[in-house]
Amino acid sequence: MSKYEFQTEVSQLLDLMIHSLYSNKEIFLRELVSNASDALDKLNYLTLTDDKFKDLSYEPRIDIKIDKENKKLIISDTGIGMSKDDLQKNLGTIAKSGTKSFIEKLSGDAKKDSSLIGQFGVGFYAAFMVADKIEVLTQKAGAKTAHTWISKGGNDYEIKDATKESHGTEITLHLREEATEFLEEYRIKNIIEKYSNHIPFPIFLEKEEEKEGKKEQVIEQINKASALWRLSKSQISDEEYKDFYKTISHDSEDPLLYIHTKAEGTLEYTTLFYIPKTAPFDLFRVDYQSGIKLYVKRVFISDDDKELLPTYLRFVKGIVDVEDLPLNVSREILQQNVILSKVKKASVKKILTELKKLKEKDFDTYLTFYNVFGKVLKEGVMSEFEHKDLLLDLLLFKSSKRDTLVDFKTYVDEMPENQKEIFYITGEDANMLKNSPLLESFNDKGIEVLLMDDEVDTIIVPNIQQYKESTLKAVNAADVEDNDEEKLKADEEKLAEVLVKMKESLKDEVKDVKVTQRLKTSPAVLVYDKDDPDFAMQQMLKQMGQMELPPVKPILEINPDHQIFNTILEKKSFQKIDDVAHTLLDLAKLSEGMKIEDPNAFSKRIYDMIGKTL
Ligand code: ADP
Repeated sequence: MSKYEFQTEVSQLLDLMIHSLYSNKEIFLRELVSNASDALDKLNYLTLTDDKFKDLSYEPRIDIKIDKENKKLIISDTGIGMSKDDLQKNLGTIAKSGTKSFIEKLSGDAKKDSSLIGQFGVGFYAAFMVADKIEVLTQKAGAKTAHTWISKGGNDYEIKDATKESHGTEITLHLREEATEFLEEYRIKNIIEKYSNHIPFPIFLEKEEEKEGKKEQVIEQINKASALWRLSKSQISDEEYKDFYKTISHDSEDPLLYIHTKAEGTLEYTTLFYIPKTAPFDLFRVDYQSGIKLYVKRVFISDDDKELLPTYLRFVKGIVDVEDLPLNVSREILQQNVILSKVKKASVKKILTELKKLKEKDFDTYLTFYNVFGKVLKEGVMSEFEHKDLLLDLLLFKSSKRDTLVDFKTYVDEMPENQKEIFYITGEDANMLKNSPLLESFNDKGIEVLLMDDEVDTIIVPNIQQYKESTLKAVNAADVEDNDEEKLKADEEKLAEVLVKMKESLKDEVKDVKVTQRLKTSPAVLVYDKDDPDFAMQQMLKQMGQMELPPVKPILEINPDHQIFNTILEKKSFQKIDDVAHTLLDLAKLSEGMKIEDPNAFSKRIYDMIGKTL
């Protein structure tokens, strides 16, 4: 017998579990049954694909035994079992990436924590909510020796050599005094019916029954074992769909949406996809866990294939079950399989279409979805070519003209007839964007501008380029306006001397100084040349630390009708242009949320001017 310490995070988690974060303790059974079902899935796959396991008996079943007298609940399976190493790795540590940061996030606020834990899925360890001692007797398929893992929670566990008739795992829970409700037959039946009715393996309940004064052992099957996704839609209730989701996702909340598809004909497959309500903790981690289980003809193949759906749909959970694949095909070959790539394409289309329907039918619910997963969905703009239009229809943006989010379609439908382009501005803060001088002439003409304040917007927008017939155009692009050429010429002539002097003053900081017609009230604004990255993009690139950018010089555009320039011309105060040029440049920078080069010089100029006006 040897003693081992739990990984620190496990002890912390156990402590939280035991102090009962969860109000619904019953989920422990769902987790154990789901582990048993996984173990059966894994063995099934091996017996079909690996010669070493061909002769092994595969009689899949899960048994639950109630021992009232000793307050024990025993859950056993005939699955793949665990070796001693497996026991240490699986029931002594938490393998999931990001565990540490997850546990650190837990606050001790029971309500908040329980929903976090729900997203994380604690699996096996949930059993400590109801048991003060757990024994796991297990034998790995193909091995001759068995082991028992024993723990009372706390900081350590033991592993002993043991004997077992055949491969599989038997988990004995010594129930806590306050958890003896789980010795009641109806309670167990109830939980199994709720969460595990449709796992693809039979679950049997063994209990004692009195018959003519004698005690007898009775065994009865308590689930339908029908692989829910294989049933037809009409056979499945809304409740059953939702409960099944909880079984496969470890989520404690209902899903936002489910999408069940049976394809028949040349390509036969079944998919059951779920969109969760909340984001999993690893949504933005590179090593996120796939939420899709792949089956071939009801035989489980894998749950770690991230190719089954594109990365931008990584929040989708569910099942893909394909008919026309040989079972013994290796997982590696599966990844480049033509059939699977067809299923993937069809699934993407289906999921995007259903989301679009949701958006049209129930915008509030769609908003709930979009607030959680919109950012991820947007990533698709970079990679989704086939269903790009469908994807673009799902995106929402803030707007200069309305308080609600708007999509491209509404924008285009409502734009004036002579407007051909979709205008947008990127930056960090929607409020600041809304008040940007760059929007003055747009507001004046009643043209809507999309305010793109999401980090990813800066990256994706150049990739969108077009929505149906309309091109996307940044309002700070140098060539955005339809100009009144005659007036422009006249203004340029009028201000020729001013422009020359300003250019001279600012030659190290700007590419050019030009007259513009885009401003109505502000005297000046910064824009960027067509091929230059704008300020938001520069910020982005800098943050990603991808490149040391050579400084990109903006163009300073000035408003020829502004009083400042009229006064300069009237009073012929050309000697002050240097100060005016620098002050205007700094003010234009500030209104874009940029830093100014020399705040002291800026303040000094302003103080001087105030002094002179008083
Ligand atoms: P999860 O199921 O989310 O991976 P768990 O904590 O529930 O997390 O289980 C950890 C691991 O222990 C499983 O991934 C599996 O490898 C192993 N395990 C748990 N229960 C069984 C079982 N009944 N048979 C075989 N392996 C099991």
